[in-house]
Order: sequence, then C-alpha cells, then structure tokens
Amino acid sequence: MISIFLHSLVLTMHSVNVLTINGEFENEVDLVRVVEDAKSHFPSETWAEIRYLGKLRLEHDIKIALSKDTHKRSFGALLSEKLIKRINKVKDSDGLMSLILGVTPDPIVAMHYFLDGGSFKRVLYLVHDYVTEKVGIVSLFRVRENDSTRVVAHGLGHNRGLRHHMKPIDLMYSELLKTSMLQVEGFCKVCRNKLESDINEVARKLEE
Ligand SMILES: [Zn+2]
Ligand SMILES: [Zn+2]
Repeated sequence: MISIFLHSLVLTMHSVNVLTINGEFENEVDLVRVVEDAKSHFPSETWAEIRYLGKLRLEHDIKIALSKDTHKRSFGALLSEKLIKRINKVKDSDGLMSLILGVTPDPIVAMHYFLDGGSFKRVLYLVHDYVTEKVGIVSLFRVRENDSTRVVAHGLGHNRGLRHHMKPIDLMYSELLKTSMLQVEGFCKVCRNKLESDINEVARKLEE
C-alpha cells in the first residue's frame, strides 16, 4: 500500500519546465540555475524537478526607452500578451501537463489603453513576472543578480496560489524589487502553511 501511495505522490508533485527566451548562450545555464535556487525556498515536496526544455529565439515586438535613462538608449522588448500566447503554443504542442516557465533577460512589456478626454492613450509598463497555474514568464531585465532568484521564487509562489503581501514580509511582497530587506528571506509562516497544506491535500486525496 505504502509504495503505491509514495509513487502517486511523486507523480502529483509539480515540475517546472524552463524555456529560456533570447539572451546569450553563456547565461542559459545560469537562468536554469536561478530556477533551481528559487526552488530551494519551497518545502522540498513542492517541486519534483526542474526540466530544461530549450531555447526560444523571438524577434522583439517593440522598442522601448526608459524614462529615467539619461543615455536615452533603446531596448528591444517583448509584449507580455504575445509571449504568453507563444508559450501556450509550446505547451500545447508538447502536451505538457506541468508549468512551463519562460525566462528571459529581455524586457517584457504590458500595454494598456485607457480613455482620456475622448482619445485613447497608451501606457506601457515593465513586467517582471506573470505566472499562472499553467504558464509563466519572468523577465530579468535590469534585475540584479541576487534578485533574480527572488523574482523567480515569487512567480513560482503565484503558481502555487500564493498572493501578494502589501508589506515587505517575504518573497511575496508586491514591491519585491524595491527592497532588499524582507522580514523573511523566503516564505513566511502563512505562505509556508499554504504550501504545506497543498502538499497534504494531494497526499490526502491519494489516500482516499
Ligand atoms: Zn507578483
Ligand atoms: Zn508570506
């Protein structure tokens, strides 16, 4: 009985399929390592494995300049909506059941339109992570090296149903990139309880 139970538990653990998008060959391994490091913030039963799927080369959709940049440089960026559609396609064609996470050093931009006095205005903003239950994207554009792991862990937290903290409590802080001081450099008790109850839920269902 026990052996069947354990076997099923392994099958229902979540895996992360990593797809690197653009970037140089050299940092490809690093990008996967970032995800490995992010995994270490979770209870050990949360993630079964990190798989590297490969690399996607995508043309940039748009050129952006940062308002604070005095050098007025421009950067090729990817549109979040298009990127998510692309990753969904990869997922469908591979028949993957577990999360597929696209990680890129390029800027990812979300575009929003709003009505302002009778005319449409467009606002763009940088997206660092957008992760749902099935697909996710993470942009490490202008993210310092030690923050990369935090951003990925934050995204994976969303995948496991964690919500934002409005205060710098832990990695689920909504303004994570604006601070290096968190009360918990990982997940707080509330988040860990949620992560652990998820694991227990799976185990309980299998026992029934
Ligand atoms: Zn978030
Ligand atoms: Zn928390």
